[in-house]
Amino acid sequence: MKNETRCVHPLGKPKDKPISVTPAIHPSTAYHYIDNGQLIYPGFSSTPNQERLGKIIANLEGADFGIAFSSGMAAITSTILSLVRAGDHIIWSKELYGGTQKFATDELSHRQVSCSFVNGSVEDLERARLPNTKLVFIESPSNPTLKIVDLMAVSTWAQKNKLITIIDNTFATPINQRPLSLGFDIVLHSGTKFLGGHNDLMFGGLATKWPDYYELIRKYIKLHGGSLDAHSCYLAERSIKTLSLRVRQQNESALNIAHFLQDHHMISKVYYPGLPTHENHQIARNQMSGYGGLLSFQIEASPTRLKTFLSHLRIISPALSLGGVESLICIPAHTSHAGMSASNLMDLNITDTLLRLSVGIEDAEDLIEDLSSALLSM
Ligand code: PLP
Repeated sequence: MKNETRCVHPLGKPKDKPISVTPAIHPSTAYHYIDNGQLIYPGFSSTPNQERLGKIIANLEGADFGIAFSSGMAAITSTILSLVRAGDHIIWSKELYGGTQKFATDELSHRQVSCSFVNGSVEDLERARLPNTKLVFIESPSNPTLKIVDLMAVSTWAQKNKLITIIDNTFATPINQRPLSLGFDIVLHSGTKFLGGHNDLMFGGLATKWPDYYELIRKYIKLHGGSLDAHSCYLAERSIKTLSLRVRQQNESALNIAHFLQDHHMISKVYYPGLPTHENHQIARNQMSGYGGLLSFQIEASPTRLKTFLSHLRIISPALSLGGVESLICIPAHTSHAGMSASNLMDLNITDTLLRLSVGIEDAEDLIEDLSSALLSM
């Protein structure tokens, strides 16, 4: 089945009587337990809408099991906390979402879980591996310089060393990249981004082919409290129907915009995995079916002139978040990575004139015109 069809009919034709084309919302927080045969409760993530969304996320990722969460961070923290114990060690790819990075450095150290941060090459992973290493966590493409990790190489190495592999697939989406088919064990999402896609909904997701991980993480949902309510489950399901259409448009526009920026005399560097000049372009070509709707670029200008540029944008909004139908732009050093030390920012090439653009579904020529005239105004 092609992506467009899978997004519209992720669970096949509706069967429940009366047959409605769109699913029912079950807002009840209380379910009879004698007749149902199982304990249904939103906090256990076992209500009809929660189960549906879990299955939909699984289906998109080519998995057998899926779970919906109240946010991307709930998916990430619940998964990690379910799998590790005091004394364990985790290897993370170095460029992580700020919240994930803080969870690793601040929260896990209090729980006696040690962490290493590496570039993501097998040589780096092997150097960081310890006898107590339990799992590897990768973000690819990464935020904000869109670095790409060779997922097949990582999973092959991890399997040899009996390590669990987890990926945050938020930036790629299952339309552009399906990590389970490249050997990963668990895929996580901030659904708040592309899956939700309208800058108005918060949720998270997990997909895995392994029943043991699924059962274990589900067991802990009750304790970690990251379940999603029925109305948000419904909205997420509705949003996913257009995921493939949106992402295709975002891929195409982002590539056009990346070419435009690359040729612009005021831009010194463009980070987009679809450009042959991107350091990991070849890996991206091999493992992704689209390069995504995010790109970053370095403007040659003072921070004050950068402000002028942002204030002259007419379509693109300077705002946090990404992946929605509206194009958004931000300065990661002031937003997603504001809590990072100066030396870490430098190490990751995140300067205060680096901009991250999340390309929406507006017409690409209109977006290029918007960027072009704002650049002229500086
Ligand atoms: N993962 C990535 C790659 C993100 O960009 C974000 C948020 O920006 C998260 C996880 C956290 O997701 P949420 O905001 O839904 O908790």
